[in-house]
Amino acid sequence: MRWVRWCAAALAGVLLTTGCTGDDRRGFRPGAPDAGDPYVPGAGNGGYDVGHYALDVRYDPGDDRLTGTATVTATATEALSRFQLDLAGLDVDRVRVDGEPAAHRHDDAELVVTPEHGLPAGRRFTVEVTYGGVPKPLPNAALGDGGFHATGDGAIALGQPESASTWYPVNDHPSDKATYDIAITVPDGLAALSNGVPKGRTSTGGRTTWRWSEGSPMASYLTMLVIGDYRVTTGTHAGRPLVTAVASALPADGPAAASVARTGEVADFLAARFGPYPFDAYGGVVVADDRIRYALETQSRPVYGPGFFTGGRPNTEVVAHELAHQWFGDSVSVARWSDIWLNEGFATYAEWLWAEHDGGRAVARTVADRYATTDWTRPTVDPGRAGMFGDAVYQRGALAVHALRRAVGDDTFFRVLRGWLAQHRDGNATTADFVGYAERTAGRPLRALLDAWLVGATPPGLP
Ligand SMILES: [Zn+2]
Repeated sequence: MRWVRWCAAALAGVLLTTGCTGDDRRGFRPGAPDAGDPYVPGAGNGGYDVGHYALDVRYDPGDDRLTGTATVTATATEALSRFQLDLAGLDVDRVRVDGEPAAHRHDDAELVVTPEHGLPAGRRFTVEVTYGGVPKPLPNAALGDGGFHATGDGAIALGQPESASTWYPVNDHPSDKATYDIAITVPDGLAALSNGVPKGRTSTGGRTTWRWSEGSPMASYLTMLVIGDYRVTTGTHAGRPLVTAVASALPADGPAAASVARTGEVADFLAARFGPYPFDAYGGVVVADDRIRYALETQSRPVYGPGFFTGGRPNTEVVAHELAHQWFGDSVSVARWSDIWLNEGFATYAEWLWAEHDGGRAVARTVADRYATTDWTRPTVDPGRAGMFGDAVYQRGALAVHALRRAVGDDTFFRVLRGWLAQHRDGNATTADFVGYAERTAGRPLRALLDAWLVGATPPGLP
């Protein structure tokens, strides 16, 4: 994610707590009511691991109603008598588990499902949820405006660290990544964009269904839904589909269109440094809604708010930032949000690399500037929920990346990055994993150096 202007995210402290009463019959116990991540209380759930979501949603901008069926394929990681999915602000009509009706209760943003029979550990099962209503943003959306926004011409569902639960039932934490098939039915004439490879569209009775498929595991906050009047461009790049879309409200030959038009070129620049592009499709979507004050690295197809393109010139630095996240954040995801610098520090550094390459500021100058303005009392690792999108994560995080590069030299540095990305591709990782990997690859201790740059309270020497 990148904000249009650097701003401290306000914190709306809405704490979602859920009860957890015992249920010990035949060794089956309820799955945990959240993922245990203190940065996102209530989000995610324990006791199962989702493999795939098949989403079939329909949205009518006329009455702002969304109806959907979600078929979630998961595996029980413990013996379960019941389990939970995150679903905010919509009504559930019916739940089936393995084709059988299942009892369910919808408490705030938690859908509690009690199947007819307990699910033994290791059992693969499917949950089919039929639901609908008028979607809304999350009430605690101060961090990233999370969730569903109705717009004049359609809708935008987007946001970090949470947003998915506003349009489908989900295990809403990046530690449970899954593949997706997404079908979106909208009135004829509107575009309906989402992640991954386009799988065609069909029209019937005045409505068009757009189909998308993401075959690489994806964290739920990286899913997106954009519906409205868009100029959609479909092509190929490096043998893979490249789909970009720019809101029709923005000029066809303006800076937004010119910026996303360079998506393939920027992705190639990054691939030359980070290793092969990790997904089966490329793209980008520029929305015209001023409420989207950020850009987000939604998998294979980032979404950019209009504020990045108001300067009269193209802005490819934000494109480089969001595309760098395809490697750092999307392919290799955080296991917990306290390690978000593993996403933002590297994406910010990639932005500096691209700027230098594209005739902008030299990396050394950017480093010197950021170093001079860094508040060393604010840690990069575990910055606190309110600091998730702060300068310590982005700017100080990128300085730490540069310090590592200077310490080990360019050859080793890029070998560390490529090896790290290959080793954890499609998975999740932590700061300790990264430090350990860098040390093994460089063949020397790096922990003290990285500690000083990431969390030390006094400025280390300028690299
Ligand atoms: Zn970012």
